[in-house]
Amino acid sequence: MNRLARLQAVMARNDVDVFIAGPSADLAYLIGYHALPLERLTLLVIPVTGDATLVVPKLEESRARESGAHQFADVVTWNETDDPGELAAHVIGRAASHVAVQDRLWSSFTLDLQQRLQLAQWQPGSPLTATLRQIKDADEIAALRQVARAIDAVHQQVAALLVPGRREAEVGRDIGDLILQTHDTINFVIVASGPNGASPHHETGDRVLQPNDQVVVDIGGTLEGYCSDVTRNYVIGDLDDEYQLVHDVVAAAQRAAIDAIASGVAAQDVDAAARRVIDDAGFGGAFIHRTGHGIGMEEHEAPWIVAGNTNELQTGMTFSIEPGIYLDGRFGVRIEDIVVCTDVGVDVLNELPAGPVMCGGTAA
Ligand code: ZN
Ligand code: ZN
Ligand code: ZN
Repeated sequence: MNRLARLQAVMARNDVDVFIAGPSADLAYLIGYHALPLERLTLLVIPVTGDATLVVPKLEESRARESGAHQFADVVTWNETDDPGELAAHVIGRAASHVAVQDRLWSSFTLDLQQRLQLAQWQPGSPLTATLRQIKDADEIAALRQVARAIDAVHQQVAALLVPGRREAEVGRDIGDLILQTHDTINFVIVASGPNGASPHHETGDRVLQPNDQVVVDIGGTLEGYCSDVTRNYVIGDLDDEYQLVHDVVAAAQRAAIDAIASGVAAQDVDAAARRVIDDAGFGGAFIHRTGHGIGMEEHEAPWIVAGNTNELQTGMTFSIEPGIYLDGRFGVRIEDIVVCTDVGVDVLNELPAGPVMCGGTAA
């Protein structure tokens, strides 16, 4: 069954008449069209039965057809002086009563459609597509394995770039160049040195690397539509005992979480497995984020490995396991790998040693 038909089955089970999506990973997933997010309306309209329709601005029609979108949906175009909201409302159909809206559709379009279709009941659409997208097929897992290898190869070149006297931003640019050698795009580069490591999403900046700095390096890109995301920790110079202890705790937490993964286990239980190790070591208050996030066409997507998520893991789900400890004003440690939940447990897609990586030396 193709993806549109599978979504229609999910819609039927959830009593949804029409699903609509603008430019988004969902759109690319469903019909293979990587549409540009523009102020001009592009809208995929999927009724619970029958054919889908893709509403596109006339000037985007050739891009849509080049992507093969017309194999999945009737392509309907609008001209510069047409009213695309009127066209979209007509395609959705005034008889529709339950309409699911994909999360990334701009509010300008959603609010306009809500004005025009006042009888419709509106609900979030992304939970419907997430039920499909969070279970990867063999081709998607192969793509994630390929991009995991690609980012591993970048990490293997990072130690040589971390030289005292260089700025985080210089190192970040070099890492970006390396990512582009093995990926189609750079998604993000975090080089968080010394105390900056205590901020999980630190913006790589002007800080100059110092001797004996510890550095958190979290990097990712996209290759053939699928994302990488791996964090390792680097030490420039001498390994401090307390740092080693904290790193050991995070590594043990990551192992505990990975060991807890199996089809049928609640996502929150994997988070709890990591958190227990960090709590027991006395650093519970310093693990300030969830244990992981799904990854695929988007860097962060379902499933969420977090307390409160009682959904069970299933074979084919791919997600990060990335516990961390953040000591304000001092340093941080996060270790992140991408895993696949399999019939027999878990497959870790990244192949790097846990670290820390000694700069100018080898992994400890
Ligand atoms: Zn993050
Ligand atoms: Zn991540
Ligand atoms: Zn990351």
